[in-house]
Amino acid sequence: MVAVLKNGVTEKQMENLCTWFESQGLTVHICEGKFQTIIGLIGDTSKVDIELLEGLDIVESVKRISDPFKSANRKFHPDDTIVEVGNVKIGGGNFAMIAGPCSIETPDQIMGIAKAVKEAGAVMLRGGAFKPRTSPYDFQGLKGDGIELLEHAKAATGMPIVTEIMNANHLPMFENVDVIQVGARNMQNFELLKELGKIRKPILLKRGLANTLKELLMSAEYIMAGGNENIILCERGIRTFETYTRNTLDLSAVPMLHELTHLPVVVDPSHATGISRLVKPMAMAAAACGADGIMIEVHNNPSQALCDGAQSLTPEQFKDVAENVMKIREVVQ
Ligand code: PEP
Ligand code: MN
Repeated sequence: MVAVLKNGVTEKQMENLCTWFESQGLTVHICEGKFQTIIGLIGDTSKVDIELLEGLDIVESVKRISDPFKSANRKFHPDDTIVEVGNVKIGGGNFAMIAGPCSIETPDQIMGIAKAVKEAGAVMLRGGAFKPRTSPYDFQGLKGDGIELLEHAKAATGMPIVTEIMNANHLPMFENVDVIQVGARNMQNFELLKELGKIRKPILLKRGLANTLKELLMSAEYIMAGGNENIILCERGIRTFETYTRNTLDLSAVPMLHELTHLPVVVDPSHATGISRLVKPMAMAAAACGADGIMIEVHNNPSQALCDGAQSLTPEQFKDVAENVMKIREVVQ
């Protein structure tokens, strides 16, 4: 980290500042120019509060040279992380298609969709039991009963299951869940992330509605700091000024994240677009830019879905998307 001091800083002020840095366990290198003094800070600067430093009268600017994320950083872990979920692998050249309804609604609905998406090429089943809805009057999910129905679908198809958690107190209900999803709205629920760091189950961490990639990586870092390194990142579109689509799919996030981190990155073209007919081109584009997997919402009867029907594919449409995604994979691999 480098701090540039303002002109006219006195020796005493400089000494106080350096003593303060040293008290934080940092080594200080001073570079005195004719007009400006620069202080180089060496050591673990992750705990240094940049805003606080920048707020000091004698400091002009502060710049981090190294990334604030360590465990997630590819610099310290050059090989791709491969997250293993049962016999499914994601990352390091392994690609996974995850599919299922936005929310689990009835026993027949989830069982029927599970069998159909497996047949079409999905290797993991998704389904929301706890739904983070914008309106409290909308369907909130079947909660624990939904997870049980998802477990039945897992038993019948052999597919590992993914479902979203909204509250760490619910963790006991997730015992038989294979991948715990942290939704966009909870990406910065730091207390939840800390609890998920204490377990060893894979976590599918979705990018927040208006969060930067650095913030996404810092959220992954929260989980990893607790010792859970099984994280799959998910780009699901971000909020922009565009209104024709539900969100704006930031596909450049995929190669950028691959540069920055060793963690696998999947793309959710359903929430990214909000429109079922856009899911296929965006899923293919995601495969083309190197995503390690795709998560798609599929419903047996989208027009009657209790949540996200407009972006849900029928099982037949999903089959077509899956086939085309695999063709793209063959070309880019
Ligand atoms: C979901 O996957 O159903 C979901 C709620 O996604 P997001 O958190 O990305 O909105
Ligand atoms: Mn949804």
